[in-house]
Amino acid sequence: MAKIQMTTPLVEMDGDEMTRIIWQMIKDELICPFVDLKTEYYDLGLEHRNETDDAVTVESAEATKRLGVAVKCATITANAARVEEYGLKQMWKSPNGTIRAMLDGTVFRAPIAVKGIEPCVRNWGMPITLARHAYGDVYKNAEMRIPGAGTVELVYTAEDGTEQRELIHRFDGPGVVQGVHNLDASIESFARSCFNYALDVKQDVWFATKDTISKKYDHRFKDIFQDIFDAEYRARFEEAGIEYFYTLIDDAVARVMKSKGGFIWACKNYDGDVMSDMVSSAFGSLAMMTSVLVSPDGVYEYEAAHGTVQRHYYKHLKGEETSTNSVATIFAWSGALRKRGELDGLPELKAFADRLEQATIDTIEAGEMTGDLAAITTLEHPVKLSTRAFIEAIAGRLAASM
Ligand code: NAP
Ligand code: MG
Repeated sequence: MAKIQMTTPLVEMDGDEMTRIIWQMIKDELICPFVDLKTEYYDLGLEHRNETDDAVTVESAEATKRLGVAVKCATITANAARVEEYGLKQMWKSPNGTIRAMLDGTVFRAPIAVKGIEPCVRNWGMPITLARHAYGDVYKNAEMRIPGAGTVELVYTAEDGTEQRELIHRFDGPGVVQGVHNLDASIESFARSCFNYALDVKQDVWFATKDTISKKYDHRFKDIFQDIFDAEYRARFEEAGIEYFYTLIDDAVARVMKSKGGFIWACKNYDGDVMSDMVSSAFGSLAMMTSVLVSPDGVYEYEAAHGTVQRHYYKHLKGEETSTNSVATIFAWSGALRKRGELDGLPELKAFADRLEQATIDTIEAGEMTGDLAAITTLEHPVKLSTRAFIEAIAGRLAASM
């Protein structure tokens, strides 16, 4: 059978530890036998980042802006222990942080639903995708302890020196105070990323803030979303048969719990931090979660939501058998290949991405899975497979479906 052809290369960002091992297996067993894979390869493994003074990370993000679609393996974020372990020149920054800052994006995370791995919330029949704003608020705050009686004000000094003041509180005794900010430009790009993603996956967008209490700050988020929706997206949403729904954050939480799922939940930075951990753990496992960074100008970077699975890697190095779940990394590849197929008008490549995902889901639903899922599945008599045997089981089903 002739291999499926690609026209534009994917940006391939290789990574570290157990996920680097899985990366190679996925290419060898699941992709290269079927697709004439074209990639522009960047090695973001920690050793190579160190050799290039981290220039490779910046180059890979630039390539993503140029080519439009990237697939990224999990990478080590250096800390003091890693500096010693790898003899690093310095404590390099998080590659994800560098890439996100350069692409200016929103991160979308969605659970991968399979029969036999049931969400704790029984009515969640479809995945809930969390879209987290990644700039500002309490993550870029300024705070002070107030030692005793006195006055605290907000002061804005304009470029021409004029001042605007707002009393925060007249303290009678000690307390605390905090200042937070956000930027119209960042909120606008967050809104556009959410609306573009919704059109892509044909799902409703829910957004919520506390605008009844925060009448200027949170209200600005509400207004910017609504203005951008009305001016740029309302007609396209109607055409796609999807909706934009705004409510208060406490109302949103209550409705989410009672919902059937199947929508995008856009969250302010703090809400997204808290709610993404709730949603992902309620759906079962971090290894059953897709993650994609979408920039406002339509650049996509696909990755797994988990890390490099260090503990399993050390077992692997000792020659012990591992059972590491490769589903999130497989779906990063299928997501990137599908997007490349869409952008380049390659229906066979899109169909291949669908088949690869289906073969993966079918394998688990047939009871063949890695240890993390075998421990929580509701299927009877699951078979726990090794890292390699799981990928080979998917490869067998994929070949049969081609
Ligand atoms: P981790 O790689 O997410 O793994 C933590 C634990 O979660 C594992 O020990 C394992 O539990 C379980 N787990 C995660 N992914 C799994 C999978 N695919 N299959 C089976 N079990 C899985 O986090 P970590 O070990 O704390 O961090 C390792 C490195 O990853 C760190 O250097 C960190 O900087 C990096 N990291 C990278 C990214 C990224 O690039 N996106 C994200 C997070 C962390 P058991 O050991 O109980 O089996
Ligand atoms: Mg968190």
